Amino acid sequence: MNLQTKVAAFFGILVVCLIAAVLAIGLFSFRQYSIATATEHIRTAAEIVRVNLTEAMINGVIDKRESLLKRLEEVPSLKSVRVVRGPQVEHQFGKGLALEQAADDLERQVLGEGKAVFDLIEDDNGVTFRGTVPFVATNRGNPNCLQCHQVAEGTTLGAVTITMSIDHLKRKALWTLAMMVGAVALFSLATLLLLRRLTKPIVSTAIDVEKAVHKAIEGDFDSHVEVKTKDEIGQIAADMNRLLSYLNDGLNRIGTMVAQLTNHARSSNGNLLNSTIEMVETLSQAAHFKQAIEEDETKAEIYKRLSGAIEQHFGVARYSIYEVLAARNQMLPMTVDGEAQGPCRWCDPQILVRNETCRARRTGHIVDGIASPDICFAFNPPSGETGYRHICFPIIQSGTVGSVLQLVVPPADHERIASLVPYISVYLREAAPVLEAKRLMETLRESNLRDPMTGLHNRRFLEESVDTLIAQAQRRKSPMAFMMLDLDYFKMVNDTYGHDAGDAVLKALSKVLTQSVRASDYVIRYGGEEFLILLQDTTGDGAVDVAEKIRAAVEDLKVQVSGALLQKTISIGIASYPDDSDTFWQAVKFADVALYHAKDTGRNRVIRFTRDLWNEGNSKKDY
Ligand code: GH3
Ligand code: MG
Ligand code: MG
Repeated sequence: MNLQTKVAAFFGILVVCLIAAVLAIGLFSFRQYSIATATEHIRTAAEIVRVNLTEAMINGVIDKRESLLKRLEEVPSLKSVRVVRGPQVEHQFGKGLALEQAADDLERQVLGEGKAVFDLIEDDNGVTFRGTVPFVATNRGNPNCLQCHQVAEGTTLGAVTITMSIDHLKRKALWTLAMMVGAVALFSLATLLLLRRLTKPIVSTAIDVEKAVHKAIEGDFDSHVEVKTKDEIGQIAADMNRLLSYLNDGLNRIGTMVAQLTNHARSSNGNLLNSTIEMVETLSQAAHFKQAIEEDETKAEIYKRLSGAIEQHFGVARYSIYEVLAARNQMLPMTVDGEAQGPCRWCDPQILVRNETCRARRTGHIVDGIASPDICFAFNPPSGETGYRHICFPIIQSGTVGSVLQLVVPPADHERIASLVPYISVYLREAAPVLEAKRLMETLRESNLRDPMTGLHNRRFLEESVDTLIAQAQRRKSPMAFMMLDLDYFKMVNDTYGHDAGDAVLKALSKVLTQSVRASDYVIRYGGEEFLILLQDTTGDGAVDVAEKIRAAVEDLKVQVSGALLQKTISIGIASYPDDSDTFWQAVKFADVALYHAKDTGRNRVIRFTRDLWNEGNSKKDY
């Protein structure tokens, strides 16, 4: 119910109550007034009757009193006049006229008690008022009653009963009341119209303000409240307009700035306030995200944090993050559905070995499989589930695609994820430079730990990894074998064919060594033409077999150098940790001791370390 209806309803109830009160008070007052007036009239008429009867007695014409009484009845509004003779008068003067006998109990009561009785009678003939007034003997006046009547003073001599119609009084009363009610109603109507006129601007301004607030809640601040008056209500409307335009301008400015930051125009049909809050929230979370990843130590930690944001902030459960290995034309799954280095699940594995088959990697643009489901043929949707689409984001590092984020989106989420694209892009933009810096650092570190000519790990790598390697071996409770290898008479190659030929032999040898061991083993260029192979989960005896194969493979290896086909042999020493030695580095030394023994005993040999070699070697060589 609006304000105006409330005022009208309240006023209506007030008017009805007022009219009811006027009617009740009016009716009661008029009734009392009518009775009082009629009583007065009857008393006056009774006095006139008494005076006339007394005059008739004095003048000796009392016998003619009947015609007097009849003429009285002709007075308008007097319906009947009847004189009743009291018992004392009857006793003195006889019964009198027939109509002078007491006709009813009321008259007998008045004759007995000497007090007037009045009564209002309402019947089909209208409203009449009846009064029976006693004539009481008194010795005052001239003549006084006791001159003729032989009665004591105060005796009731008779009574007169007069009935008169008071219909005319009732009509006048009702008419007056009707006029009063009409006046009240007219006054009320006028007041109501005035009130309506006064409250109209208040009500319409309130309605306008309510509409504007409602639209503002829906995110539309572009409303205007009409200023209708120059009073406080007009001021409220003007203030409301100022507030709305202030909010609208402010939010538009924030929106424009945020859109510039996200590189994405804000949708104009949505809720302005909500979309602004969402954008600012995402930017703030993205800023926190960037701060966190900047303090992360490794690339793996950054990918893990990015996975957390994808799962928790964007509510995506199926996704892949690939790292592009441009030099090798490969892609490496870094995280798949939260699993670090998980399998390539949502793409054709072809992309791992030919990274140009990944459309996002090739084009450097977002590949929106939500809008265009068939855009990329490498997408591999979850089997047995329909309607899954993908969206892939390239993460640009140093001007090229360094990583690719792929989201796998269920049908119910297509629209939601499509609307999140600008926010996801903000996260990836924040992550890109940090990932790039970490990658550069890792490349730099990697290059320090590798020998540039052969691509094998170097001695520094071994020094840095030793703690991890020991911890791994202890955790697995499995042995490690060390193989120390040295080409036989290698110096001769340099001396005869030149240094480049020597390098070619070393490179060819590196390949043979790498291909002869498992991926979990480490091939290290330990010195000039000296190599160390670290075999995990392998005993000394097991290593002897591998070493034998290597020795044979090197023997068969032919290296083409300018003008000659070279064939070399290799000597290999083997020791085992912890079987041969308590410490890692001592095991390395023992492998070296075994190698020297191989050299000493004719070269092109594999020698497994034994304690006696150490004692013998110690006596020959100072380690
Ligand atoms: P053996 O081990 O059988 O006793 O004889 P060797 O001739 O191999 O012995 P030595 O250890 O004296 O010679 C090693 C040579 O390897 C010396 C050095 O010139 C050569 N050399 C070391 N590093 C490189 C390298 O990177 N490239 C080339 N071309 N030669 C290298
Ligand atoms: Mg040598
Ligand atoms: Mg050597």
